[in-house]
Order: sequence, then C-alpha cells, then structure tokens
Amino acid sequence: MLIYATDHFVLPLPPGHRFPMAKYARLRERVAAMAPDRMREPPAATDEELARAHDPAYIEAVTTGTLDERAMRRIGFPWSPAMVERSRRSTGATIAACRSALAHGFGVNLAGGTHHAHHDFGEGFCVFNDAAVAARAMQAERLAARVLIVDLDVHQGDGTAAIVGDDPTIHTLSIHGRNNFPFRKEASRQDVELDDGTGDGAYLATLRAALPLALAASCPDLAIYLAGADPYVGDRLGRLALSKAGLVSRDAYVLDALSAADVPVAIAMAGGYAENIDDIVDIHFATVRVALNGWSTAHRARLSPCSPTTPSSSPTRARSPG
Ligand SMILES: [Zn+2]
Repeated sequence: MLIYATDHFVLPLPPGHRFPMAKYARLRERVAAMAPDRMREPPAATDEELARAHDPAYIEAVTTGTLDERAMRRIGFPWSPAMVERSRRSTGATIAACRSALAHGFGVNLAGGTHHAHHDFGEGFCVFNDAAVAARAMQAERLAARVLIVDLDVHQGDGTAAIVGDDPTIHTLSIHGRNNFPFRKEASRQDVELDDGTGDGAYLATLRAALPLALAASCPDLAIYLAGADPYVGDRLGRLALSKAGLVSRDAYVLDALSAADVPVAIAMAGGYAENIDDIVDIHFATVRVALNGWSTAHRARLSPCSPTTPSSSPTRARSPG
C-alpha cells in the first residue's frame, strides 16, 4: 500500500485565504512518521490523462493561465504556474493511488477529491477532477473495467456526476448535505441527501443502507473513496454533526465493506474546513491509519462471483432522503 503526498508542490495563496493549505504538510508529516517506507511523490497527470475527463481547451487555458477572471473566481485560487503543477500532481496522485490499490489492495492520496471540477470549468477549489480522470485512466489502460466512486465529502460530487453522466461503467455514490454547496446539484447515479445537523447514528445508518446498494449495482473492479473531513461537527462549511469517532466508524465501515467484496480502493482526502487545522489533520490521519490497519488484515476471498444488478443501458438514479 503506497501513500502519495503533493504538499511539496505548494499552491501560493494570498494571506488570509480561506483554503486550509497548511493541512497537507502537517498531514504528510504525521503519516510519514507512521509509515515512512510507504511515502511516494506522484507523477503529474498528463494532458492525455486529463483529456479523458476534461475539455482540451480548458486544460490548455488552465496550463497557460488564460482562463478569464470569472473562471478563476469560480475556482477560488489565483493562477500561477505552481497552481497548475500542484493540480496536475494532485490528480496524478489519485491515478497513482489507483495503481497501488490494484496492485496491493489500497492506495492513498494525501490530497485530491477535487470533485467540483467539471468537464470545462473548475469550481470550489477544484481545478481537475482527480477521481474521474483516475477512473478513466485505469479503464484506458485496461486495469479496471468498472469503477465505483464513493464520495463522502459533505458537498455533492457535482463535477464527477456531470463528467461521468450516464456512463454505466462508473458508478457515483454521493452522500452529502442537502442544504450545502453546490446549490444546483447534478444527478449522481446514487445521491443521498442529509439534513443539517445529521449526527453519527443517522449518518452511519444511511451509509450502511447506501453502500451495499452501490456495490451490488456496480460490481466494481476498483473503488475510489473520497473521505472528506467536512461532515465533522466542527467544520465551518459542513452543516452536519459527525464526531471524530463517527468519522473513524465511517472509514472503517467503507474500507471493511470494500475489502469484504474484494474491491481494491484508492483513497483521496477531499474537503475539510474546521476552524482548527489540527482537527482536519486528525480526521485525515485517522482515515489513513484505518486504511493501514485494514490493509494488513484484508485480502479476504470473494464469496461469490459478482454481476451488476442494474442493466448497463438503464442506470438507476436512487434518491433517498437522509
Ligand atoms: Zn467538501
């Protein structure tokens, strides 16, 4: 199981910017202390890889810094060559984590989860959609035919849903806050919307109902798990009320369920906006620790051959209230 860090590729931000960039270096330091031999630097995603999920004109405009002011405001970062390099490395890290997952069962990107990036625009601190790019990379290289994206960031994976569309080979499950950004939501294959203030018990019950359905419907060769830290009660943007222990239970359930189904999983950190950066780092670090512990006990045999429960021509769109 390999762990990819991109915090050396710093994205320069003006003083007071609300994106918690510092979390990545602190997280890498803690993870490296626990698992120094597993740390790797990922390659940058190439134009060819990005173009499987993004408009080539958008990739070109990001690369050359020719996006207009409105498009950059929508992303929320100032343009710089370093921003481009960081966005490519972070996407490359999810691709690399998928390779690790397919080889060893698990792989981790200590950044990524940029799920608001659409086909031809970025939004909400997301430039390129790492999960969509990585899923398509594994498919293009014939390393995986069917991919499940489990998006448990508190915000809906709207960019991923829009990019994937009705592609029956990539199943998107998004469990998110009903009243949260993005206010115009896209249709994932499976969306579950939660009310403000949802706590550990209701959240975990919802997850335990939704994930088995996603697994049965998608029968994946690979899962990409967006383990957002922003359902945390102390998150400034999250509106939900999970405890740190509840988030550990969430991660353990997801990784156990995927392991039990013999599905390799690449994990991306996704969002986290708690007032205290140490809280965000605690939550992300706990996710990595759950993965490391799970990896050592995983590799259980698949119980029965898997076949998708939904015909590929007519994907279901499950929408259940939280
Ligand atoms: Zn989020």
